[in-house]
Amino acid sequence: MNIKQNINNISTPFYYYDIDLLKTTLDVVFKESSKYGYNVHYAIKANANTKILKIIRDYNIGADCVSGNEITKAIEVGFNSDKIVFAGVGKSDKEIITAIDNNIFCFNCESVPELEIINKLAAQKEKIVHIALRLNPNIDPHTHKYITTGLEENKFGINLWDIDTVLNRISELKNLKLCGIHFHIGSQITDLNVYKNLSLKVNEINSLFQKKGIVPEHINLGGGLGIDYDNPGKNNIPDFKAYFEIYNSNLKLLPNQKVHFELGRSIVAQCGNLITKVLYVKEGLNKKFVIVDAGMTELIRSALYNAHHSIENLSSNYDKEKYDVVGPICESSDFFAKDIMLPKCTRNDIIAIRSAGAYGQVMSSQYNLRDLAKAYYSDELD
Ligand SMILES: *Cc1c(COP(=O)(O)O)cnc(C)c1O
Repeated sequence: MNIKQNINNISTPFYYYDIDLLKTTLDVVFKESSKYGYNVHYAIKANANTKILKIIRDYNIGADCVSGNEITKAIEVGFNSDKIVFAGVGKSDKEIITAIDNNIFCFNCESVPELEIINKLAAQKEKIVHIALRLNPNIDPHTHKYITTGLEENKFGINLWDIDTVLNRISELKNLKLCGIHFHIGSQITDLNVYKNLSLKVNEINSLFQKKGIVPEHINLGGGLGIDYDNPGKNNIPDFKAYFEIYNSNLKLLPNQKVHFELGRSIVAQCGNLITKVLYVKEGLNKKFVIVDAGMTELIRSALYNAHHSIENLSSNYDKEKYDVVGPICESSDFFAKDIMLPKCTRNDIIAIRSAGAYGQVMSSQYNLRDLAKAYYSDELD
């Protein structure tokens, strides 16, 4: 990785964002989605850093929020409330009220009890709110089980056999207006065929609704596009062209139906890096451990999902050796990589953990009362 600036004087660990890369990525998202008139919402939960949100907002993108505070933040940084969607299986009353008060574009709803509460709260405000139903298409995304969300046994969404019950109930709820159908089947999906399968299933569901006399105004296909964690240098921008193309060639829309996406990881992952320093190199019986000053408190993905991040030693040109790269936290799951080859590491070497822009900084914690890592930006350092 190429950091132009002298970062040796910045205290580690810290996040480093490549702003040029973020902007180039957004250019591509904009260009490829506009070809088909698709609407893109950025899934704020991937990275809620204010500076990054403001850059994304400038690309005329909407926001996909999963909490009341994300809605407040989106509005604070200037996202249009009529481009905000609100998802989540467990929306609290307070969060629902925040969304209603801000006149957001749409609630993506996941159960009958939730619909009833939204209706009740909307009635109290004498408003009619727009909802979409999050449906379970039962498509296997071929990704990690913790980030699979569209199968029937997941906690997410409404199963297809319940649709009639749900639609009947909605017809009684006078403060709801059904505007769309929503799908989100998982994250870090790299097999494009999955999106074809989803499109075909969505076509079936769309005609099912049509037979019932309902034409959803918008079809929201969620997020999930994966990135290349193995080769962040070579593939630093996901293949948005192929992604939107596969939907365009497989989706059968009815007149005036609009398509929406909620992309998180694919927009922000590659522009972020966690920069850390080698504290100690410890020789075990059969292993060498590089103990760095970042841990699962700064980036929990490896501990949580066994996720793989490419790691570079920015300080060493020596021959490569085999290491486990681990953090300082008292948890065996506090590691970044096992048995990887790195140029020989010594104390104070600077290590870059790549592709950390999504679900990195935003998931950090102060476990062990550690300081929160700061963020630095390529366009601010000199
Ligand atoms: C997390 C999430 C997204 C974004 O997923 P990515 O894999 O980061 O693109 C989109 N929609 C919903 C409903 C989500 O929960």
